[in-house]
Order: sequence, then structure tokens, then C-alpha cells
Amino acid sequence: MPELEVIGCRAGSPGVCGPASGYLLNVQGLSVLIDCGPGVVAALAKDDRVADLDAVIVSHAHADHCSDLTALAYHRSFPRRLPPIPLFAPPELRPVLELMDRAFGIPSLEELRTPIATTTALHPLLPQAEQEILGLRVATFTMHHPIQTFALRFPSIGFTYTADGALSDALVEFASGSELLLAEATYLNSEGRDLGGHGHMTAEGAGELARRAGVQHLMVTHFADCAERDAIRARAESTFEGSVTAASPGVTFALSAA
Ligand SMILES: [Zn+2]
Ligand SMILES: [Zn+2]
Repeated sequence: MPELEVIGCRAGSPGVCGPASGYLLNVQGLSVLIDCGPGVVAALAKDDRVADLDAVIVSHAHADHCSDLTALAYHRSFPRRLPPIPLFAPPELRPVLELMDRAFGIPSLEELRTPIATTTALHPLLPQAEQEILGLRVATFTMHHPIQTFALRFPSIGFTYTADGALSDALVEFASGSELLLAEATYLNSEGRDLGGHGHMTAEGAGELARRAGVQHLMVTHFADCAERDAIRARAESTFEGSVTAASPGVTFALSAA
């Protein structure tokens, strides 16, 4: 049975609620890491699970979703080199990865000169498209966010992840009918927030998305303030009558799809 496990749920950086964005999708015998924010590799390494990864998908090039790719690359480089794994990401991530490798590679060591490029095989995620990742169908939707950011939907297992971005009618349609919606709810409320300009959702917005999309279960995540996590879950329940969970490291959700 496919299962989603939360590795990290904090917006911006690690916090008392654990690492920044990172989710492990176990499906079809594969272990797929979705987003690789700061703290994610430490959490996986603690349980010796970095070597188990079959693929990585990154939603966008903000640091809280991708900056641990360098740590991942070094971890898979020594003491023994692990086989390269596919890395799927929006085209805009490529120059960022090249910059990271130029900044953090070790020119005097051939095998560590470009750690990310050496330990991963980069594949572009196409916007507004459906493609196959190791036999798993994945659809993308371009979120309203300052840089190219893809929400992800896995139609065969009924799972949708919003990544970062604002609520929109088109997003409702994209998430429609999911069994599990993992939605960013960065803020408890909209006071003093430029939701439309920067592109984020509140707890009520995530609940509204879940309700309008007719999903079965909502998991809220990407908390700006870890202390607001339970309040965000409760506020999301005010606009969505289905079951709601607040993401937290170690929380899992078993999807019913075969
Ligand atoms: Zn973020
Ligand atoms: Zn972002």
C-alpha cells in the first residue's frame, strides 16, 4: 500500500517542529523523496535511509525545498559511492544546482568536483504535463509563487502535493478528487500577509482548497511558526469537514490505492 511519510514540515528553515520541507513517498517498491529542504538529509541519515532513495523530486528552487541537495550528494559520495539516482525538478532548478556545485564542490578531488551532478541524473519536470517517474505517473501544475513552482499529483494513488503557492480555481481543479491532499498552510491567518503577491495559503485557504476539490483527507504543512501547527489544523477544519492532519516528522498516511 502506498504511504507518505513526513520528514520535515517547516517553512523557510528547520524549527522546533523539525526539518524544512521533505516528504517520503513509498510506492510501487520505490522510495521517492519529495523536496529536500535543510534538515531532511540529517533526519534520513539518522535512520540510515539515505541509501534507500530511488529518486528525488524537487518542487522549486527555494532553499527550504532544495538546499539539502548538496548534503544528499555528499552523503551518497563517501565513504562509499552510491549509484546516481534520478532527480526530477522544474527547469529553473538546473542553474541553481550548477551554482551549488560550483560553490560547494571540491575542485581538487575529481569525484567531488560537482557533487550533485555526479550523484544524480537531472530530468526536467515539464509544466502542466503528465510524465512518468520510474513507472509512476506524475502530473504538474504551475503554482502562483515568485519562482517556477510545481504542485504534483500522482493520479494512480490519489495523492496531490501543492508545494508552495496561492489558492486558485485552477489549483482546485488540479487537486480534484484526491484521496490525500498535502497542502501548504504557511500562515494561521492572512493578517499582514501578502498572500496573492508572494503566493502562500492560510489555514482557511488550505481547508477551502480541500473542500472545493472534494478530497478525502487534508494534511496541512509548511508552517511559518511551529507553535501554530495545532491551531492551523483546527482553523483548516473550520472550512473543510473531512479529516485533517497537521504534518510532523514521522507522521504517515497510508493511501488506499493499489
Ligand atoms: Zn517553502
Ligand atoms: Zn517557496
